[in-house]
Amino acid sequence: MTPKLVIISAPSGAGKSTLCDRLLQDYPELVYSVSCTTREPRGEEEDGVDYHFLTREVFEQFVGRGDFLEYAEVHGNYYGTLASPIRAALDQGLSVLLDIDVEGADQVRNFLCDLDEDDPLKDALVDIFISPPSMEELRRRLEGRGEDAPEVIEKRLRNAIGEMNRQKEFRFNVVNDDLEIAYRELVSILEFNNAVIGPGNTEEEHKCRCGGHGHGSCGGHGHHHGHGSCGGHGHNHGHEHGSCCCGGKGHSHGNGSCHCHH
Ligand code: ADP
Ligand code: 5GP
Repeated sequence: MTPKLVIISAPSGAGKSTLCDRLLQDYPELVYSVSCTTREPRGEEEDGVDYHFLTREVFEQFVGRGDFLEYAEVHGNYYGTLASPIRAALDQGLSVLLDIDVEGADQVRNFLCDLDEDDPLKDALVDIFISPPSMEELRRRLEGRGEDAPEVIEKRLRNAIGEMNRQKEFRFNVVNDDLEIAYRELVSILEFNNAVIGPGNTEEEHKCRCGGHGHGSCGGHGHHHGHGSCGGHGHNHGHEHGSCCCGGKGHSHGNGSCHCHH
């Protein structure tokens, strides 16, 4: 594997925390980026575990010091990702899981875009959008979770429309209808991008194992018909959305905008 910045974004209630918790249990090489927020703790949430719960005043001090990799106002509260724990985790060879909103994801993309070409972080992004199967189901899940006041639920549902409109900015999209299927899709995306250690990619072995038409991340001269990123001279017929991840003379025939011929 190679340490990656894995961003997972979704409208509130789509099942992001459920899926992320399971990933973190199953993959010790993946560490959670504990965000800062000015919102009140919800349910059983613990300070320093689920979030660093801060006052607006302290949050603004962190902003002033430039401590955040990204931050945004979401549903009326501030949320932000501290840069230093992310660097520390990546330096230890671990991938980092960021549960952040669509705006924060965009800020991280811009940050990576401004890095030098030879910076190892340049190609470290794996960005995934989780969609609910429908808005009706999203409402059912938010109400069923039973942790938000009715007006908070209404606000989150209103904001969900704008968030869903930005899902195309993400390279990968997973619909969380059946939880098991969604989880399996998520795992394959992480494995194919070498973000975690999987059956097809050991700790030592980073290079392309896709010699033909299989699933996997194609870093060589093969063809790649699965989910994942085409990093070589291959073709990529996967399920990618968004920006080009093709580092070679590849084509992407997915739903994205990757038609690169470097
Ligand atoms: P988020 O972190 O995106 O706000 P949660 O993970 O808290 O969402 O999930 C919201 C609610 O929906 C929770 O009660 C969770 O158990 C439930 N849930 C998550 N995924 C599914 C699914 N695939 N089918 C049915 N319910 C789900
Ligand atoms: P919640 O209040 O439900 O925990 O999170 C609300 C929204 O804030 C979710 O979309 C979540 O992904 C987002 N969020 C959580 N942490 C961060 C962060 O550090 N930065 C940004 N930009 N969004 C965050």
